[in-house]
Amino acid sequence: MAIREIITYPAPVLRKKAVKIEAFDHELRELTDDMVETMYAAQGVGLAANQIGIAEQIVVVDISTQEDEQKNIVLINPVISEGEGKVLDQEGCLSVLEYSAKVERFQKIRVTAQDLEGKELDFIAEDRFARIIQHEVDHLHGTLFIDRISSLKRGLYKKKLKKILKN
Ligand code: ZN
Repeated sequence: MAIREIITYPAPVLRKKAVKIEAFDHELRELTDDMVETMYAAQGVGLAANQIGIAEQIVVVDISTQEDEQKNIVLINPVISEGEGKVLDQEGCLSVLEYSAKVERFQKIRVTAQDLEGKELDFIAEDRFARIIQHEVDHLHGTLFIDRISSLKRGLYKKKLKKILKN
């Protein structure tokens, strides 16, 4: 396993549409092991492959319910097939430096995906778990949470980022 570099906004790979995974092989397993390690090393709760520079449909999501746990799930080719209820809550992203904002998400979603063996998954996610999955699946479409806030707030963040990157 290895910790990969996390790519940050405005890198172009974060805007790429991720391609579907066809080969459920050893390489995929190694890549997802690295993603899990990278996510926890960065104290994140989710990571999409785009964020380490690989535009493929892979996300890892932390599903721990206790602080000292490191339980996670790997979703290959995930799709949000249904969503209901709207919740506004604070969100941040490992690829968006020094920023968080309130983002509206579905409270409850239905997810279809595949596991590392290529087996079909179909499940319901709610609340925190649903929010993380929606955030990560957005990454696979080249969308960031800052695309889901007002253009005024986004403009302010871009100014702030310029200053951060200068220093
Ligand atoms: Zn993110």
